Amino acid sequence: MSFKSLGLSEPLLRAISKKGYEIPSPIQAKAIPPVLEGKDVLASAQTGTGKTAGFTLPLLHLLSENPKEKYRPIRALILTPTRELAAQVYANVKEYSEFLNLRSTVVFGGVNQKPQAAKIRQGVDILVATPGRLIDLENQGLLSLKRVEIFVLDEADRMLDMGFLRDIERVMKLMPDKRQNLMFSATFSKDIKKLAYTILNNPVQVEATPENTAVEIIEQKVYRVAKGKKTGLIIKLISEGNWKQVLVFNRTKHGANKLCKNMISAGISAAAIHGNKSQGARTKALAGFKNGSVRVLVATDIAARGLDIPLLPHVINFELPNISEDYVHRIGRTGRAGASGEAISLVSADETSFLRDIEKLIDMKIDVEVVEGFEPDPNASREPIKQGQGRSQTRSRNSSQRNSGNSKNSNRNQSRRRSDNRG
Ligand code: ADP
Ligand code: MG
Repeated sequence: MSFKSLGLSEPLLRAISKKGYEIPSPIQAKAIPPVLEGKDVLASAQTGTGKTAGFTLPLLHLLSENPKEKYRPIRALILTPTRELAAQVYANVKEYSEFLNLRSTVVFGGVNQKPQAAKIRQGVDILVATPGRLIDLENQGLLSLKRVEIFVLDEADRMLDMGFLRDIERVMKLMPDKRQNLMFSATFSKDIKKLAYTILNNPVQVEATPENTAVEIIEQKVYRVAKGKKTGLIIKLISEGNWKQVLVFNRTKHGANKLCKNMISAGISAAAIHGNKSQGARTKALAGFKNGSVRVLVATDIAARGLDIPLLPHVINFELPNISEDYVHRIGRTGRAGASGEAISLVSADETSFLRDIEKLIDMKIDVEVVEGFEPDPNASREPIKQGQGRSQTRSRNSSQRNSGNSKNSNRNQSRRRSDNRG
């Protein structure tokens, strides 16, 4: 199987080989042909399997087949849940369209809207956007979606997790009824199917499940440790192991900040990434982590989802997630592109039930070790930690409770509430 045999045009094949891809990933091989045929597609495959190119390549092919070079209305809209993802998808769109005469841009909140509006006014064929800023700009009459031919909902599961259902519905009303719809998701739940039913027409459904699931190729280990000794243990592991690129997961923003500070005090360069950080701080942290100047990235689940950080040798769960599926998402960060990695969890007594749930989900027992000097506290309670700030709220949220007024103010309140509750 080659990209050429999928029917992609010459300029796209050039961009693909410049990017260094040799063969399509399984989800690309399955999704690209029906998209090229103009069909609605529902595609699911786990994080890191190349879904972005799965919709971007055929989308660019279709748009370039009948160019609108003079006046450029927005002909393709790609909706993503977070700023980072929007930026990543846009970077991909730019790369793949290098040899085509198509223009694109990206809009997201947290930064000045003026340059974004100016770029749109000049005419773009493809717009990558997060829902909040998109709706804001549309409300102000700064963009129109009336000429959209292809609509892509990327990371659809994350969209639902973050409570964007209402926003998606509003965006759909702004586009013409006759259009091609693509929905991409890492997971395939009942909620996703329900959403697909409202967005897609007669969709072709494609799925790719890896031969070796992440949990099988990743080396997993649990350190039983007293809660108060976790910081000491993680610093010891990272410094003695001389680990270079370590992604650490925390359940709360506050915990992530605190751990980050402690790492820095211990002489380990670290940065935190979560919903309360400014856009600038998040971009800087991510860039530093990718280029090696930041050794440890401390993240919350929401902030880390979908981020393209390839080939991580080490993932550490400073705290176990209270939602077992999140464990699989977290450790999946080490298994990209078939390279194996190590996933370590520091587990205190009060996380015992979380560990049990995780082992049930992945259907295997994880090896347990204890490090001398960092033993678990035999008197500690095994009662689970209270979940006031965790994701439990997110999952049990009821989107109908959300304020759906369309004044700008209520939009802002919504997003504030969102980032207050979530990573
Ligand atoms: P997903 O959206 O499924 O999580 P991405 O689209 O972010 O995955 O891709 C994950 C990584 O895989 C990116 O670094 C991307 O450049 C790379 N990639 C995508 N397609 C291919 C391919 N055909 N061959 C090699 N690498 C690829
Ligand atoms: Mg993706």
